[in-house]
Amino acid sequence: RTVGIVGASGFIGGEVARQASALGWRVVGFSRSPQEPGDGINEWRKWSEVPDLSGLRVVVNLAGEPVDQRWTESAKRRFHESRVGVTEILTRAMLTSPVPVLINGSAVGFYGDRGDEVLDESAAAGDGYLADLCREWESAADAAPDATRVVKLRTGVVLGSGGAAWKKMRTVFGFGLGGRFGDGRQWMPWIHVADLAGGIVHLLDADLDGSVNGSAPEPERNAEFTRKLASALNRPAFFHAPAWGLKLGLGDFASALLASQRAVPNALLRSGFRFRYPTLESALAELV
Ligand code: NDP
Repeated sequence: RTVGIVGASGFIGGEVARQASALGWRVVGFSRSPQEPGDGINEWRKWSEVPDLSGLRVVVNLAGEPVDQRWTESAKRRFHESRVGVTEILTRAMLTSPVPVLINGSAVGFYGDRGDEVLDESAAAGDGYLADLCREWESAADAAPDATRVVKLRTGVVLGSGGAAWKKMRTVFGFGLGGRFGDGRQWMPWIHVADLAGGIVHLLDADLDGSVNGSAPEPERNAEFTRKLASALNRPAFFHAPAWGLKLGLGDFASALLASQRAVPNALLRSGFRFRYPTLESALAELV
């Protein structure tokens, strides 16, 4: 039972490696700069245009250039290449070296900006740059050979001490400078990294394919998220970043913070996955 993880050096990939290893999986990490084995990883292989997929029962693809930066044309090329490009390389390599299961990253950005609509996996794609990117990313995964079970994991904001989102929130709110984004009514699908990795490890064996939302059962509106986070940190959150200010400061990335996605993890719940941190309060209690 060997699982290959592309992006194993990253925040989510690293946690998946540790959890899979603890459950007895042999873990092969793929990286552009392979390291020494350790921390749940038995073997590193060099990521290349022709990756060596031999001996793998599952490939988990968690590669991706971070999108929390200015969306310049060159950044957009890196977003695309590290998601759609990496997935295309994988599915092409599977033609000569078949792998029974592909669990491929995607994001709730797939849904675009949807107000109060409850979004389970059957919801259609939305509009905008991230929605288009996610749709292409998922299509690239669907190009895997027919015999491959393909899961496309639409991940929400991942909370964990090693992750960029939590580090930023903790710093800003820690200084008492936290606040809602825009009117704060937008729904934020979030998930604790232990649950996201647990969900992925569950999917290694689960009889499930297609799209799977990787977010907790109780998404929060941004204003409520802000209030709960400030309260968990015992800090005020008076501030309020207006939409125009976010756009000025962050450029197009602001659209990702202002979009509303009331995503619910129906597929994971139906397949018997149990969340350790189903509510934001429980996740914050672990994180703080
Ligand atoms: P990290 O930035 O921590 O890790 C990303 C990994 O991707 C790195 O380990 C890097 O590996 C690999 N990578 C980057 N560019 C390339 C490339 N061009 N070719 C091959 N590998 C590449 O990200 P996260 O763990 O936070 O996120 C993983 C995925 O999940 C991303 O696609 C992200 O968009 C998605 N996601 C994350 C969310 C979050 O809140 N963290 C929310 C929703 C989706 P190396 O440098 O070793 O080659």
